[in-house]
Amino acid sequence: MKNLVILGGGYGGIKVLLGLLGQGVPDDVKITLIDKNPYHSLKTEFYTIAAGTVAEKDVRVDFPDDGRIKYMFATVSEVDVEHQKISFKDKSDIISYDYLIVGLGCEDNYHNVEGAKEFTESVQAFSKARKTGVAVGNLPAYGKVTIVGAGLSGIEVASEIRESREDLNIRLLDRGGSVLKAFDPRIQAHVADWFLKNDVEVLHHANVEYVEKDGVCNNGVCYVNDVTIWTAGVQPHYLARSLPFKKDEQNKLVVNEFFQIPEQSNIYVIGDCASSEFSPSAQLAGMQGEQVADVLCAILRGKEPKKPKPIKLKGTLGSLGKSDGFGNMMAQPFTGLLPRLAKSGVLWLSKRH
Ligand SMILES: Cc1cc2nc3c(=O)[nH]c(=O)nc-3n(C[C@H](O)[C@H](O)[C@H](O)COP(=O)(O)OP(=O)(O)OC[C@H]3O[C@@H](n4cnc5c(N)ncnc54)[C@H](O)[C@@H]3O)c2cc1C
Repeated sequence: MKNLVILGGGYGGIKVLLGLLGQGVPDDVKITLIDKNPYHSLKTEFYTIAAGTVAEKDVRVDFPDDGRIKYMFATVSEVDVEHQKISFKDKSDIISYDYLIVGLGCEDNYHNVEGAKEFTESVQAFSKARKTGVAVGNLPAYGKVTIVGAGLSGIEVASEIRESREDLNIRLLDRGGSVLKAFDPRIQAHVADWFLKNDVEVLHHANVEYVEKDGVCNNGVCYVNDVTIWTAGVQPHYLARSLPFKKDEQNKLVVNEFFQIPEQSNIYVIGDCASSEFSPSAQLAGMQGEQVADVLCAILRGKEPKKPKPIKLKGTLGSLGKSDGFGNMMAQPFTGLLPRLAKSGVLWLSKRH
């Protein structure tokens, strides 16, 4: 038997799994999917968990129930690429692999800002978003929340918390001169206007010097604060960063056109862990996962894999609470209810695998 192990059942890992099952798995291949959670997490919705607007069960999906898959729900602690073995925290089992897919996602990048790791909340893992939701939910009336970082996740977190709690004082620290710097100026203006109308204070040209238990110091001014949420950057999962292979300047693993590590072609890397010309996203991870499934299906049958086609992303959608949003669709900027409905539609589809 050949052991094919998928590390991480997120947006990339689940697509590899579904692609393999859909195309048929040769009888001599055993698939094991490893995830620390016994469900597929809809990470793009973690802002709702952080704001307490949605039940947890609405942000997770059962993994497929299929006799051809073995699941292992445990936290991976080491990937030994020399002996091709995976070990776990709090579990003595060791899993061997012949083919490995690394889809462990990402974690916060604190950019060496003092106190940021210790004193900020996060939305980069289910457990962390849950903890953020508890911290925000437990705030007394008129409590103060600061969100550091005004990219897509920071915008969604800030607006969802506003919709959840009208009483809170919410401040968003934006490194640039306008929010969502990668988006069209019309979208930037719409989002800025939403924050103005909904009483979310936005500070531009932010430069957070340090974070304390009860405050954030930015450009020489310290703001007293109850909860600070970090959305100011991500980096690949620490296990991916620890692998002894070439990385790009963002510490993502460099892969070839088949998403393989060039020096060990039985290891595939997808999603937030893999070097790419595109910014990390669920959409990118999913498309890479589908392509890796195609490549593996050929290789497992002893055939030459076809070179994957260039990836074409469909655009990005973001929410401003439950009835407003923004996004690029077919290279056009959209704002208001339409992109918000489109985002709900995408979520509906992803819940149905
Ligand atoms: C608030 C927010 C909003 C976002 N909105 C969008 C959006 O609108 N559109 C978009 O395209 N992208 C969005 N993203 C980004 C997107 O969620 C990620 O790029 C995407 O999830 C990456 O997919 P992945 O498969 O690489 O990793 P993930 O989907 O993160 O999956 C990683 C998996 O690995 C598991 N795992 C991690 N560590 C271990 C371990 N040690 N042992 C075992 N299992 C482990 C996790 O449980 C998880 O299931 C958003 C992100 C956030 C935080």
